[in-house]
Amino acid sequence: MTISIHGLNVARGIAIGRAVLVVSSRLDVAHYFIQPQEVESELGRVRAARDAVAEELERLRASVSQLKRDEAPHELAGLLEVHLMLLQDEALSEGVRHWIVDRLYNAEWALTSQLEVVARQFDEMEDEYLRERKADLEQVVERILRQMKGTAAELVPSPPPRKTPIAGDDEADGFDAPLVLIAHDLSPADMVQFKKSVFAGFVTDVGGRTSHTAIVARSMDIPAVVGARVASQLVRQDDWVIIDGDAGVVIVDPSPIILAEYGFKQRQGELERERLWRLRHRPAVTLDGERIELLANIEMPEDAAAAVKAGAQGVGLFRSEFLFMGREARHLTRLPDEQEQYEAYRRAVEGMQGMPVTIRTIDIGADKPLDGKAPRQEYLNPALGLRAIRWSLSEPAMFLAQLRAILRAAAHGPVNLLIPMLAHASEIRQTLVFIDKARAELKARGDTAGPVRLGAMIEVPAAALSLSIFLKHFDFLSIGTNDLIQYTLAIDRADESVAHLYDASHPAVLRLVAQTIAEARRLGKGVSVCGEMAGDVQFTRLLLGLGLRSFSMHPSQILTVKQEVLRADAGKLADWARQVVDSDDPGELLGR
Ligand code: PEP
Ligand code: MG
Repeated sequence: MTISIHGLNVARGIAIGRAVLVVSSRLDVAHYFIQPQEVESELGRVRAARDAVAEELERLRASVSQLKRDEAPHELAGLLEVHLMLLQDEALSEGVRHWIVDRLYNAEWALTSQLEVVARQFDEMEDEYLRERKADLEQVVERILRQMKGTAAELVPSPPPRKTPIAGDDEADGFDAPLVLIAHDLSPADMVQFKKSVFAGFVTDVGGRTSHTAIVARSMDIPAVVGARVASQLVRQDDWVIIDGDAGVVIVDPSPIILAEYGFKQRQGELERERLWRLRHRPAVTLDGERIELLANIEMPEDAAAAVKAGAQGVGLFRSEFLFMGREARHLTRLPDEQEQYEAYRRAVEGMQGMPVTIRTIDIGADKPLDGKAPRQEYLNPALGLRAIRWSLSEPAMFLAQLRAILRAAAHGPVNLLIPMLAHASEIRQTLVFIDKARAELKARGDTAGPVRLGAMIEVPAAALSLSIFLKHFDFLSIGTNDLIQYTLAIDRADESVAHLYDASHPAVLRLVAQTIAEARRLGKGVSVCGEMAGDVQFTRLLLGLGLRSFSMHPSQILTVKQEVLRADAGKLADWARQVVDSDDPGELLGR
C-alpha cells in the first residue's frame, strides 16, 4: 500500500530507490559499507562474537544451576535458556548474513538491521508472551555487539561500490537499484561518514531545515527530507521509496503510475542541472556590472575539489569542527592534534589553488557533539551553552593548537581566520590575545606562520546590535544567518516541532542582516553571508539589494544563485529591498 509522509524539504531533487534503514536505538553502532573481499572476515567477526556469547551464557547457566533456590530467582535459568535459543535463531543469523553478503553492511550494522526486522515481527505477534521476547532479543544482540567491540575492522578509506546488489532481485535482470537512507536521526558526524557513500537520498524523522544534519545533506547534493516524524517506523528495509526533496514528501511503496510520474520529474531535474552546469565558468556579474563573490562552505578539506569544480571563488566557511567529530567511527582514538589539523587545513588551502580559504575555529556543541558526548542530554540548553568560541576559550590548549595549525597553513596560501558566536567585547579581547600567543609560540619554535585576515561571525543578536565593537577589531564580518535566526526568534534550529516558526524572513532577522551589511560597508570592511540564506535563491535579490556582494554556500547551490545574480540589477533592487526590510510582512513582498 502506498503511503505518503510529509516532512521538511532540505535538499532539492527527486530520489527513487530501495530503503536502507539505519536503526536508531540505544544500540549506537557504526554504519559503513565493507568491500566485497571483507565479507568473510565480517561474517567471521559475528560468528566469533556469537560463540563467545554462547559460552558466556552456558557458563552463567551452569553457575545458576548450582545455586540454591533462594540464591537466584527460579526464572533466571529459564531466561538464560531463552537467550541461548534466540542466539541460535536462524532468522537472526540468516538475516545478518544477508545484510553482510548482499548489502555489504559492516557486521554491527547488519546485526542492528536484522534486530529491527525480527523485532517488528515480534511486535505483530498476537501472543503476549512472545511479544515480550523482543526485549530478550535486544539483550542478546547487545551482548553480541559488546563482544564485537574492539574487533571492528578498519574503516575502508575508499568509497564503497557505487551500487550494491539487492537481495531478492533477479540477478539475471542485471538489476540493481539506487539506495536511499532512512533513519530516525543522524548526527552530523554520521552524515560525513555517509558523504562518500552510495545513497541517492535520505530521510530522517527528526531535525529542522538548518540543523547540521540537513546542512551536510545539502552539501552532498542529494534529495533529502528531515522532520518526517514516523518515517523510520513506517518504512521497512528494502521498501521502494520516492524522496521528493522539493516538496518535502516521502512516498513509500509507490504504485507504477506514481513511479512513472516521479521518474519523469527526476529526468526534468537532471536536464535543468545540465543547463546550469554551463554557467560554471561565467563570472557572477549583475546586469548593472556589480561583481558578486560566490564562495563555498565546506566541511572537509576534500570538499575543496567540489568547490573548485562548481566555480567557487574561494571558501567562505570551512566548518573545522567536522575534523573533530565522528572519530570513534573512524577508529581514531584522540582528537586531532596541531600537526593533523595543519595538514588538513593545508590540504584545503592547496585544494583551492590560490583562492582564499576562510577557516572557522571549532564550533562544537549544540547539535554537533564531540565523540562520546551527547550535549542534548548532558546540558539543559546546549544551543545556549558552551559552544563555539565559548568552548574554545574554556579549552586554552586546544584553542592554541588550532590557531597554530591555521597560522601555519596560512603560509601555503591566502587564509582568513573566522571566529564563531562572539557576543562580548571580553571574548574578542581574549581571542585576540590567544591569536598573538599562538603566533609568538610558532615564532619561538622557529615555525613559519602566514598572514591571516581576521573575521567575526555575526550570529548572535547581541553581536548584530553592537557592531562597532566588532568592526574595530576585525577585517571582515560573516553573517551566520542559521544561528542568527535561531537566537533572534528563540527557535532551536534542530527541533522539528518548532520548525514552522523558524522564519528567515521575520522582520527582526532581516533588519539585523540589513544593518550588519550596511555598517560593514560604511566602514569599508568586508561582509558576507555564510548561513543557508546565502544559498537560498528566494533571498538572492533581497541580499543584493541590501548591498551584499559576497555569498558563501554549499558548492551545489552556487550555480542556481549565480543564475539569479546574472538576471539581477543590483542598483534597481536597493529601494525595493529597503521596503521589504521596513515592511511588517516581508514574507509577502518576497512572495514566500
Ligand atoms: C550559521 O550559523 O549561519 C553558520 C553558518 O554556522 P553553522 O550553521 O555552522 O552554525
Ligand atoms: Mg552558526
